[in-house]
Amino acid sequence: MKLVAGAATDTGLVRSNNEDSYLVDADHVVYAIADGMGGHRGGEVASQTAIEALRAAIAAGQPVREAIVGANAAVIERAQRNEELTGMGTTLTVLVVASGNQLLIGHVGDSRAYVLHGGAMRRVTEDHSLVEELVREGRLTPEQAESHPQRAIVTRALGIDTTVDVDLYPIAVAAGDRVLLCSDGLTTMVRGRDVERLLRSEPDAQRAAELLVDAANRAGGEDNTSAIVVDVVEVDATAPAAPAAPAASGTVARRVMSPAPDPDDVRRLVPARGRWGRRVRSAVLLFLPLVVVLGAATGGVAWYARRSYYVGFANHRVVIYKGVPGGVLGWNPTVDLSTELTDTQLNQVDHDRVAGGAARGSLSGAQTFVATLRADVAATSTTTTTTTTPRKKPKPKPRTTTTRPRQPSR
Ligand code: MN
Repeated sequence: MKLVAGAATDTGLVRSNNEDSYLVDADHVVYAIADGMGGHRGGEVASQTAIEALRAAIAAGQPVREAIVGANAAVIERAQRNEELTGMGTTLTVLVVASGNQLLIGHVGDSRAYVLHGGAMRRVTEDHSLVEELVREGRLTPEQAESHPQRAIVTRALGIDTTVDVDLYPIAVAAGDRVLLCSDGLTTMVRGRDVERLLRSEPDAQRAAELLVDAANRAGGEDNTSAIVVDVVEVDATAPAAPAAPAASGTVARRVMSPAPDPDDVRRLVPARGRWGRRVRSAVLLFLPLVVVLGAATGGVAWYARRSYYVGFANHRVVIYKGVPGGVLGWNPTVDLSTELTDTQLNQVDHDRVAGGAARGSLSGAQTFVATLRADVAATSTTTTTTTTPRKKPKPKPRTTTTRPRQPSR
């Protein structure tokens, strides 16, 4: 198969940096778009890490699914080496050649692949996004989804979990077909029929990719936009399968043969509330950056609800909480470690700090803060002792008799 590709990416008019990355590797015939997300430089690092791992894996002859799974591991591994990158993630949509007349798309996240065949554009990939899941379930109309405030929430991405579910789409192609890979910056800003019209009217792949990115910017450029346009110049239906094909077509066959899960089955397996909770959790994990941007107005940078710690009071005791004061999107803080310190032992300054939720961030930071509290308490005790003033006994710790013993649930 002979392919010709063009690609373009742009930061857009609103964002300060471009978290999209893309791959055009004509030698190994692999094309990919990654749209990163995460605080600090996390989004950029995640998408670049995924793209680089993908490129190396494909160049080493790995099938696309394994290459994407490897890219997921690479993003997680990269995040573990730098605390500032914790929780970063990325989408990844990949195009490779499966055989003489078949392309294969591997996909995770809300970037997209389209095919233009006979002048008509068809979307290949499903978005792994909250609103699109709601549309698929009939709980939102496509029109409502378009303007939904949570349309940026991704339910599947690389970098979040050690296992990743990869969608594979085999596409039979003919000469003259055109494939578009793009980040959501394009599809949220430009209507599908305008994308289609542009793909139909501009014959040059590179120029078409540039025009698509321009169109997103003309419509407001609210996100980073990336587009890869791949033209199928020549196919060979009689050519033997590409080296990657045996394993790849095996997985494809499995996917094609297993029907999409019956929504009713899913509902039976997971109660609606649980499903929503899991989505919200994904939202928190992935879209902390958004939460942070909103939260910044009210109180600075918070870590992930799941990965953050702070020092506060519980039952008049100084404890280390796991979570964020007040909770974030359903994640309420939980007591991770209780100390022997009580509120009456603390001086006013320490007391106020703890009452307000102190030392927000890492566990070690919280532990260090507790150590300083202990030192302050010890210093106060020493002073009191040396002045021979009778030491005021700390108020007895509150009785727990008000706590109703938990009944075994039935
Ligand atoms: Mn995006």
